[in-house]
Amino acid sequence: MYPLSEIGGLNLAARGLEIPTDQIFNPRATCLLDGICRVNGCTGSFVSANGLIITNHHCAYGAIQSASTTEHDYLANGFQAQTYNQEISATGYTVRITEAYSDISDKVLSAVTPSMSFLERTKAIERRRKELEKEAETNHAGMRAEVAEMFAGKTYVLFLYTYLKDVRLVFAPPASVGNFGGEVDNWEWPRHTGDFSFMRAYTAPDGSSADYSTNNVPYKPKRFIQVASQGADEGDFVFILGYPGRTARHKTASFLDYEEQIRLPYIARLYAWQIATLEAAGKDDRAVALKLASQIRSLANVEKRARGQLKGLDRAAIATMRKRQEAELQKFIDSDPARQAKYGTTLKEIDAVYKELTQSSDFELNIENLQSASRTLAIAFTLVDAAHERIKEDLEREAAYMDRNFDQTAKTLQLTVQDLHVPVDKIILTGMLERLAKVPGAVQLPALSGLINDADSVAPKASALLEHTRLNDWAFVEKCLKMTPFELVESQEPVLKLMTALYPTYLKLRQRGKERAGQLDKSYGELVEVKQQFMSQSFIPDANATLRMTFGRIRSYSPEDGVIKTPITTLKGVIDKTTGEDPFITPQRIRDLYAAKDFGPFVHKKLGQVPVAILYDTDTTGGNSGSPVLNARGQLVGVNFDRAFEATINDFAWNASYSRSIGVDIRYCLWITGKVYGAEHLLKEMGVSQ
Ligand code: ASP
Repeated sequence: MYPLSEIGGLNLAARGLEIPTDQIFNPRATCLLDGICRVNGCTGSFVSANGLIITNHHCAYGAIQSASTTEHDYLANGFQAQTYNQEISATGYTVRITEAYSDISDKVLSAVTPSMSFLERTKAIERRRKELEKEAETNHAGMRAEVAEMFAGKTYVLFLYTYLKDVRLVFAPPASVGNFGGEVDNWEWPRHTGDFSFMRAYTAPDGSSADYSTNNVPYKPKRFIQVASQGADEGDFVFILGYPGRTARHKTASFLDYEEQIRLPYIARLYAWQIATLEAAGKDDRAVALKLASQIRSLANVEKRARGQLKGLDRAAIATMRKRQEAELQKFIDSDPARQAKYGTTLKEIDAVYKELTQSSDFELNIENLQSASRTLAIAFTLVDAAHERIKEDLEREAAYMDRNFDQTAKTLQLTVQDLHVPVDKIILTGMLERLAKVPGAVQLPALSGLINDADSVAPKASALLEHTRLNDWAFVEKCLKMTPFELVESQEPVLKLMTALYPTYLKLRQRGKERAGQLDKSYGELVEVKQQFMSQSFIPDANATLRMTFGRIRSYSPEDGVIKTPITTLKGVIDKTTGEDPFITPQRIRDLYAAKDFGPFVHKKLGQVPVAILYDTDTTGGNSGSPVLNARGQLVGVNFDRAFEATINDFAWNASYSRSIGVDIRYCLWITGKVYGAEHLLKEMGVSQ
């Protein structure tokens, strides 16, 4: 996952790239990067001069879901706008395009003094980052600035983004195509999912960024990505530009132990229960199912990934390997008195943080998840937090409540309110409270003890608490967003009362988190320094949602002894997998066109089929969803959407034998869009003929 600054040094020509690297990235001229954007937590590509974006169906899912009703069920039936006017506003979606970046590590770290406590250190860095972001936004009106931490506690880069707030849904296949195989196939290869959708970014008529308005016009990207309707083949060189979210490759074995023994098993268990509860609630009621669809989808994605990671961590013995490396490193440190003095205790200090985290995990994980699992409590938390934060000076606030971010926070909250289904939330709240009833520290909390001190009465008490809640009413919640902490209590909303009583506990956890971050930042900064000396090499920073490049080839792999999986799936596989039962339903029109072999030009010559998905050995993670898969000439041959099950541990360690990413073949996207659903105008807009 190479940052932009590294691309020039990679000798990509020798690896198969057929265009000069300055066509990929060039700070002085338009380049491919101008055609890549971040779409919320995903990536997208501009594929026309009029701001048309291709990304994943699962990235547009929230927009498709919120536009869907039982009468217009776009999730089930798909959606297509014939004209700009018919495109649907995707509330809460933003698009950003990287414009410039600069290393500002010195400016950030000059805020730190040696006498600071760890808490003061974190707060000083946070404040300095916010100051620098605000300053950059003042100097570059209309742009969005963000300081990204590249190496913890060591290097910081300021990114400037064009930031577009009017994003619309243009085309989505039905979920039976866009999510074919559902959770059964998620994180698996072979794959037959048409995980793509089209969106469009809009600006004010003068080209500036603006909130949704009917006067807005399609955004004109400086550059768009050329669609290669001939696709790609096994063995071809491909590269990916995108915004990978988070990896943890520079973390210690003690971190991996914490993940393997504590956090991942907890998440896998908790989310499996939440998913089952939400699915049961929507089983016979489509309106409820629509409300809960996005939440189920993201829980299921993380739950299965956690299982994959647990299996992979165990199989590849990654923590053991890292322990061995750390023992070698410690020997190197101890072999020189000066080094020993500087780094002698670094590893131990990091280990102590994870040990302490492990000890507090039962309490912390349950109390944190109380206010994320229960949507009502999540809304209440944001309201109480906002009330306390908004009375502070702007730079002193948590980032979400700063003036520059508050609109977006409110939009996200609005979506949560819309999707709140109180009957199911009663069950979730009961389950979370029952978990907390078994945690000693929680039972002693005055705010909770009355609710959880008697196991038999948790359910009726949780039910009563939510019975008449107004937190599912946006008009009420919007009013609350402007209230002081005192007014929130006065509002007589029982959940707000409970959250107000719990709030000091959350504040303590936040503070504890910052103390840990201060310690870890300092120690990880030292660790990277000494590791670089030890290995005489520099490292690539962990993914941090900033623009990166990765490359590889379309390649088979062997997930287990005696098994080789080939890297291209086809429409025939879709038909073979179709059972007529969710998640393996295939629309009749696709089956008819398949039977008639009506593939148009979107056929894979050797396979004689429409190719559906491709597999390649690049280095990707969450956030690379929707990233363009580009051929050696920088043209679009696929849209990245997943990894194989074994590759879920990419986040901890990449390996050429098991790391494989999955994309939907561009020919399947074009065939579905043009041939199956007749949106020829979109193909034309991309310069593709059928
Ligand atoms: N499907 C994945 C996700 O949404 C993408 C990846 O992690 O490779 O998280």
